[in-house]
Amino acid sequence: MEKYDYVIVGAGLFGAVFARQMTDRGFRCLVLERRTHVGGNCHTETREGIRVHVYGPHIFHTDREEVWAYVRRFCTFNHFVNRPKVFYRGKIFSFPINLMTLYQLWGVSTPREAEEALARKRVHLDREPANLEEWVLSQVGREIYEIFIRGYTEKQWMRSPRELPASIVQRVPIRLNFDDNYYSHPYQGIPVNGYTDMVRKMLEGIEVRLNTDFFDARDYWLKQGRKVVYTGRIDEFFDFRLGELAYRTLDFRTRFLPDVPDYQGNAVINYTDREIPFTRVIEHKHFDFRKAPHTIVTEEYPVAWRKDLIPYYPVNDRRNNEIYRRYREMARKHGRLILGGRLAEFRYYDMDQVIHAALKAAEKEAPVERMPIPVRGRAQPLRKRRAHGAWK
Ligand code: UDP
Repeated sequence: MEKYDYVIVGAGLFGAVFARQMTDRGFRCLVLERRTHVGGNCHTETREGIRVHVYGPHIFHTDREEVWAYVRRFCTFNHFVNRPKVFYRGKIFSFPINLMTLYQLWGVSTPREAEEALARKRVHLDREPANLEEWVLSQVGREIYEIFIRGYTEKQWMRSPRELPASIVQRVPIRLNFDDNYYSHPYQGIPVNGYTDMVRKMLEGIEVRLNTDFFDARDYWLKQGRKVVYTGRIDEFFDFRLGELAYRTLDFRTRFLPDVPDYQGNAVINYTDREIPFTRVIEHKHFDFRKAPHTIVTEEYPVAWRKDLIPYYPVNDRRNNEIYRRYREMARKHGRLILGGRLAEFRYYDMDQVIHAALKAAEKEAPVERMPIPVRGRAQPLRKRRAHGAWK
């Protein structure tokens, strides 16, 4: 008989939330993690007293009450609000595009003037926009597209914006008021003790094996659990049998500046010139309102994808989505496999969406209304019960 109900591959947000939920329902979970730490790509590390977002900046935001309540079981959030700036041809602009940006560009100072100016600039199509470029042109016109979107998008995705879906930029708001909060969600912040600490707390009392690559002993691990929850790259799980999926990856160049108390005056500055090779500069101390005589900054350079690099973003173009669809079908036939998270679901998920998906996946496996009555506040083990859905 298998030793665990769930062998969970990956200790990122999906794996940790799923493990927590199923453990609390009385199931036996084992979490395997290739890396030396939990937390996946939201891992933070303290260097010289500054918490560094090792795999790029992570700002938690959500409009889901249940997700906000859930994460606050494991940490306290600070009051950080993301208000990035854009650097283009030596000038700084307010971003995301808002009334201050339009004031800086065209001198308009009221929502009405802004709307009138935009109406003159918009490119009118007699059909639905077919790609990212057309969508942006139809919303804000060519000038704004050239300053804020084209260079950044070409650098970041290493593709023409004409080959990309508009959904990539539709994440970023366009506002005709002075609100420069990057997100439109009511809840936002960064865990005061870092994401890794939050994930560690989620995993409290759960068996986690770090430095353990599932693929080094795949058959062994598959036999250890009745089901496998896989949060890594789906093409890797199936030995790339249907071809490789494309992800976007980054090279983070981090510098310690011993004598600089404040390098750029903000956590995030985007560099939208095509000629500047990095897309943004992060100054980590601003995420935590940390005062120190020194600072740490990271430049983000997009890098061509190779399968030995760390995948950060799925490339959801038609070709890759089709390959993914076929892998998904293989996963369905596998029967014992649950896929979750940005890599395994091949979706440009935000952190709150991953957590929401993990809560739903746990609920699907063992709905709480079907749980036995808790004894002294703890759920009884369900091992003898069959979880919802068939074990194969
Ligand atoms: N984007 C842009 N200029 C910017 C910021 C974003 O053109 O200054 C576009 C770009 O295509 C990017 C997308 O908007 O991939 C989504 O940006 P977001 O900041 O959400 O990306 P992330 O922080 O996830 O890398």
